Amino acid sequence: MVAEILAVGTELLLGQIVNTNARFLAESLARLGIDVYYQTVVGDNLRRAAAAFRQALGRSDLVVSSGGLGPTEDDLTREAVADALGLPLEEDEAARGVVEAYLTRRGLPLSGGQRRQWSLPRGARALANEAGSAPGFIVEQGGKAVICLPGPPSELVPMFRRHVAPYLEARPDRGGVILLRVLHVSGVGEAAVEERVRDLLSGRTNPTVAPCARPGAVSLRITAKAADEATARAMIAPVEAAVRERLDPWVFGVDEETLEGEVGRLLRARGLTLALAESCTGGLIGHRITNIPGSSDYFLFGAVVYSNRAKEAILGVPGETLRRWGAVSRQTAVAMAEGVRRAGEADVGVATTGIAGPGGGTPEKPVGTVYFGLAAPEGAWWHHRVFTGERETIKQWAAQEALTLLRLYLAAPRTLDGFARRWDG
Ligand code: ATP
Ligand code: MG
Repeated sequence: MVAEILAVGTELLLGQIVNTNARFLAESLARLGIDVYYQTVVGDNLRRAAAAFRQALGRSDLVVSSGGLGPTEDDLTREAVADALGLPLEEDEAARGVVEAYLTRRGLPLSGGQRRQWSLPRGARALANEAGSAPGFIVEQGGKAVICLPGPPSELVPMFRRHVAPYLEARPDRGGVILLRVLHVSGVGEAAVEERVRDLLSGRTNPTVAPCARPGAVSLRITAKAADEATARAMIAPVEAAVRERLDPWVFGVDEETLEGEVGRLLRARGLTLALAESCTGGLIGHRITNIPGSSDYFLFGAVVYSNRAKEAILGVPGETLRRWGAVSRQTAVAMAEGVRRAGEADVGVATTGIAGPGGGTPEKPVGTVYFGLAAPEGAWWHHRVFTGERETIKQWAAQEALTLLRLYLAAPRTLDGFARRWDG
């Protein structure tokens, strides 16, 4: 079965919003073993939207659309699909139920436009919307299917998971499954990762292994195609083991797992607490740490200490250290980590200090220079990197690197000594 994704929305064409629905749908369809050959975006224009549906149906078995199911005049996906399929729009009882259930839940009156929302192409099956007013729908014709989902991701995602995935899984023409497993690596660059797994990347067709780099992390995607999920899993397992063998201890998670989640898990498992002193990362590490539910169990204190005065007054970094070595130095990074560990009464203190740019660089300390400090009961470590990129990219790199430093301290102390340097005063 060949599918395509059609996003409806003028905002998308104007670049005002990012087409995250297409990304979600593409990934979800791939997981279901459905090949997606095209992604299209069309504005809120009936003639062009209908033409886009017609074109999609001409070359694909399945069209999944997002957007244009709301109650307003510019929400015209229903009309466009009806036009493309040559079907009339008819009031649908189930769709009406979806809209009314939403209004009752919210205690809202019926507005004029809402009637439009329960007019669906004849023969369509309405899909319940637990998060909003717009019913989705599936309409089949000549062995092909059009599935229309609402634009807001908070509505589209649960509707897909609850109603669309089971429908697609049950379709006899789905073919096999495509299973992805993504291993996340940090602390080694993309080139080094590739070198270690080069023989696994080339010359294999099923499963395939492909790298993908983001600031501070490299992911290796293992993709298997098989008749069913269990077979695909069994095909992935030995390849995953081979990748891990080459990249252990740098693999910090799989699929949806994050570095901050892993760090939190390790802190909790060891019963350790954390304090952060952030200069150039401006709170980004604290933000990521606190994105994890339950992080209050181990995260005690974070300070954004931008000025030298704050570094002295809040963290007790000696004025002499700042004057002699500068704010961006290993000496200051370690003093910040030790200071925040003390001030927060935490087991582990982590600090960042650097030059995010675009100004402020010198030949000795160019833009992108970041020093990291880690203070713990066993002693202190420092680490140094020079990142390249825009200000925000450098901040992201630095936050990722600090979390990597912390993860290695917690999970792989022997590797830590190769990654960072022990502080000997
Ligand atoms: P509503 O009932 O809210 O009008 P709708 O189904 O008519 O929903 P749209 O009007 O097309 O959907 O879009 C509503 C909102 O959903 C947009 O303002 C945007 O925030 C979000 N949205 C729409 N399409 C996408 C997309 N492809 N990717 C991410 N977000 C989207
Ligand atoms: Mg709308």
